[in-house]
Formats: sequence, structure tokens, C-alpha cells
Amino acid sequence: MLTKTDYLAYLQCPKALWLRTHHPELATPPDDATQRRMRIGQQVDVVVRGLFPAGYQVPYRPQPAERVALTAEAIANGAGVLFQPVFSANDLLVIADILVRRDDGWHIIEVKSTTKVKKEHLPDLAYQRYVLEQSGLEVAGASLLHLNPACISPNPDLFTEAEQGDALEPHLARAAADIPAMRRIAANSTAPDSGIGRHCTRPEQCAFYEHCWQDIDGLTIFDIPRLTPKREQPLREAGVLYLQDVPPDADLTEKQRDYVDFHAGKKIEIDRAAICRELANLEYPLYFFDFETIDYAIPPFEGCRPYQQVPFQYSCHILHADGRLEHREFLHTTADDPRPPLVNALLHDIGEQGTIAAYNISFEKGVLLHLADRFPEHAARLQDMANRLWDQLTIFRKFYKDWRFRGSNSLKSVLPVLAPKLSYKALEVQNGVQAQVAWEVMITEPDESRRKEQIRNLLAYCHLDTLAMVEIHHNLTALCEQTGG
Ligand code: SF4
Repeated sequence: MLTKTDYLAYLQCPKALWLRTHHPELATPPDDATQRRMRIGQQVDVVVRGLFPAGYQVPYRPQPAERVALTAEAIANGAGVLFQPVFSANDLLVIADILVRRDDGWHIIEVKSTTKVKKEHLPDLAYQRYVLEQSGLEVAGASLLHLNPACISPNPDLFTEAEQGDALEPHLARAAADIPAMRRIAANSTAPDSGIGRHCTRPEQCAFYEHCWQDIDGLTIFDIPRLTPKREQPLREAGVLYLQDVPPDADLTEKQRDYVDFHAGKKIEIDRAAICRELANLEYPLYFFDFETIDYAIPPFEGCRPYQQVPFQYSCHILHADGRLEHREFLHTTADDPRPPLVNALLHDIGEQGTIAAYNISFEKGVLLHLADRFPEHAARLQDMANRLWDQLTIFRKFYKDWRFRGSNSLKSVLPVLAPKLSYKALEVQNGVQAQVAWEVMITEPDESRRKEQIRNLLAYCHLDTLAMVEIHHNLTALCEQTGG
């Protein structure tokens, strides 16, 4: 049976459909971020079902045909709302989220845990409508039910239903045209000749990414910024994959050519004078600061929108003019709102003078301004902190470029080059998503020793984030001292 997931895989890449059919064991298991997204989707589903109190859940059966029969039976018996109804037409199978009988007929409702309709939602909905209609159901409408980004908790108006009428038409036509090709690919004993490319991560990273990219070592033409398909195509046809193989006469913009030459030539470009000017503007004490946040689709705390970044932890290294280094940190360890105690700790730990250095400050600024909005009695101090932020990332965006950063200027790309003795590899928590997962586990963990272990892991991770900034700062300062900057 060809499912909706098969169809979406086919749209991303025919080879992905073939691999799903013939070698599903080659798929990488979902990572932390994907698993968390799946859990969020399930939470959203539960809340949405509450909007349809008369809904009938089609019971689970291992055989899809049994669920198809149960769906038909429920419809025949007059059910007005069905959760997870199952339909088949020939070899096509669909499990819809919600089917609602309205005055004008049946409506398919696809629940999305996003805050808007995304273009990849339309083929998803079109495939459902196509299969339901092919199965003989008269479908009057199809819509996407997504989170309302303007809803501020505890406002109950959490969802928006967006009917997809005309917008769905081209996708319905495409689904009808695609299905014969899908059948051929799935039935074929050999994989289609789909090469790797940007499509491997769009709209999401393909489950077979690690399999298909396992031999890739180095930057490729797919890393060239804003390379249009028109410019990419001749390179692909010429069999060019790595940047060092891009011919000198390739059709590229000036910036793209600079990018290729820089990385293929393994260059390092450091504007020492500009870096020294940036550092000279910093005011001691220097606060190297980082928030860890959690974003809930269904905001549990007052004053939050869906996916509001709610801070639950911070780390702050304080570097004094005489070279002394102090460390302050905060971690909320219970399931209630972390913001009030976090704000109190922040007001205590961050003095009223000195530059606050963060890496990619738009994030820290957004969190501080949310806190200022939420706690008007502390708004002046919190806004002042936001105004004193300085972005260490600026150095690596503008003045310090090194091919070993592998085309990225994130902290985790810069650190191994500038401060190789510091590494995230030995830590249990190694990135922001893992920190979110660890925090969610910790606040509900009944076993005290496991709880303490998660607390240690979280503190170690956030501590390293700000210590990394301090080490990078020392490295940059040394650079200026060498040049008398
Ligand atoms: S990783 Fe890329 S090439 Fe491989 S199956 Fe997925 S989309 Fe296709």
C-alpha cells in the first residue's frame, strides 16, 4: 500500500520512496529534535480532539483493511466526527487526522503543530483528499488546523482553521499525475538515479541522509550560498561535486566565486584592526551570557504564545578588567513557571555596568524583552540588559574567516579551531534541543539520583557555552596584543 508518507517521500526525492519500500532499515532513527517534534504533534492532537467532544476514534487494528471497514461502519452509523479514519483506494492508503460532517458534506481537517500553513502542507492534504475521493467519499472541503500565533495564554483561541480550496487544486492534479510514477518506482527492483542535493534537507532532512551522504567529506556545490538551480545544473551535469572541482569559468556570482575560492583554497582571512576596534569598545566587567529555553506548542504559562522561548536556565561567566573570572548560573528544577525565579537571579547576577556578550544576540535579546514585557516592575533593568548586549558572532560574520569553520560561523564550528581543548563531545547534553529534552525529563523525574544527573548534565552544557565564549575572547585579545592593537 502507498501511504501519504510514501507520497511525501516521493515528492522530496524518488529515491527516498524507493528506499522506504525496499530498504527501510537504512533510514536513520529520528534524532532528539525529530522525536521532540513528534511528541509536540501528539500533544497538539490531544488538545485539538477536545474541540470535537462528539468525535469518534476509529479503533486501532493491525490490518489497515479492518480499520477501513470500521471507518465505513462508523460513517454508515451516522458518526459526525471521526478521529483517524482510514480510507483506501486500490493500493493507496490514507489515515486522516479528523473528518467532520458539516451541512455541505464531509470536511477533512489536517492538524499541524505549526503556527502557519507551510507550502509542504498542501501536497499532504491534497493526497488525502485525492484518496478519500477515489475511495468514493464525497469531500466538500479540506483544511489545515494550525496553532494561532497571536494567541497569548490563557486565551482559549489557540487554533486557526484555514480552508484550502483553490490553493489545493494544482496539488490535487499533481497527486493524480504522480501516483502512476510512484507505483513504478516502488515496484522497481533498482533504485532511481536521484543524486544528492539541496533537496535532501528540504523541507526536512531526509531519513536516508546519513546513508546517501556517508561518503561526502568536505564542502560541496550544495553549500554555495544562494546557488540557483540554473547555475547548479551545469555543475551537476559536469559531475562537479566538491568546491575544489568547480571550474574557473563556472557561472557564479562574484560572492559565490569568492566563497568557492576561499574554501577550495583553504584560506584564512583575519581583519585584526577591525577585531581590535570591536574589542576596544567593550566595557568591563564583561558578562559572557547564554540562555537555555523551552518552547511549548501549547503554552502552559501565562503571557506566552505558541513556541514562545521560555528561559529555564542561564550561565554567565564574568570577566573583570584585572583578569579575574567568576561564574554564575541558574537552573529551574521544577515544573512550574521558571521565569519569576530566573528574573530574580538575573537581577542579582548581572550588574548595572558592563557589556553583556552573547553569541547571536537576537535570541538573548528576544528573551530579555519578553521578560521585560512580562515583569513590568523589572522592565527598566531587563531592557537595559538587552541594550548592553554585544554579539561575539559579529567577529566571525565580518572579520574572522577560516576555511576550517566549514562554511558555518556557529559557536560549535568556531570553537574547535580557536579553542580546541574545549569540546562538547564528552558531554551528555551537546546542543540546545538536547538541553530542552533533558530539562523536560528532569522536571518530571521521580528518581532523585537520575534527576541530579540531568541537573549536572544541563549545568555542564550551559557552563561550556559561556566558557567557550571566554576562551574565544582570550584568543581574540591575544591576537590584538600580538599586533599591538
Ligand atoms: S538523502 Fe537525498 S538523495 Fe538520498 S534518498 Fe534522501 S533525498 Fe534522496
